Amino acid sequence: MREYKPRAIESIAQRELLQFDSELVNGEPKVVPIEEMIELHYGIILQYRNLSKKGHIHGITVFEDSIIPIYDDANKRYEPIVVKAGTILIDKRLLASNKNNRLRFTLAHELAHYILHSEYYLEVQELASKISTESDFRTEKEADELGAAILMPQGRLKVAIKRNVHQMERKELIYHLSHIFEVSTQAMEIRLKKLRLYMEER
Ligand SMILES: [Zn+2]
Repeated sequence: MREYKPRAIESIAQRELLQFDSELVNGEPKVVPIEEMIELHYGIILQYRNLSKKGHIHGITVFEDSIIPIYDDANKRYEPIVVKAGTILIDKRLLASNKNNRLRFTLAHELAHYILHSEYYLEVQELASKISTESDFRTEKEADELGAAILMPQGRLKVAIKRNVHQMERKELIYHLSHIFEVSTQAMEIRLKKLRLYMEER
């Protein structure tokens, strides 16, 4: 299967953001409305369900019409439901207000699978939630990277850093950046490291 180099991931993120709303690439650094992007720009159906009993599965991207077991809280058992191709299922426990960053990252991760891995998953006839073989490990990593690149566009991130780097301590800056883009501080740290931006303790 096709492997995506870091630079390719960045240009795919830029291309997709430009097509959705060029302001996200050229305008003020701001939050990427990931849910709208998924629903309006790609026409993907988003559904919020209990994907597992304990909540360890955050999202599933469905590439072809499938039957998927969903945990039914009331009856305390898994019930199969029919899900149409082009659907992203998200665990509904991520809708809790304190889980916003996790929700946004999961949405971006699943969208990234949709953008990068449609062909691959149609070939192997599996859902994008599986993590088992080595190539699946790679698809997970790629989805994390493209998801991060969509939520934290490289150019806007640089602008936001440049503006604030002189008046803020490292910790404060990371907090500020994660607030602008509505991501966790951990996700921001990983992104900065990946881009080799402001990574050193000074
Ligand atoms: Zn995944």
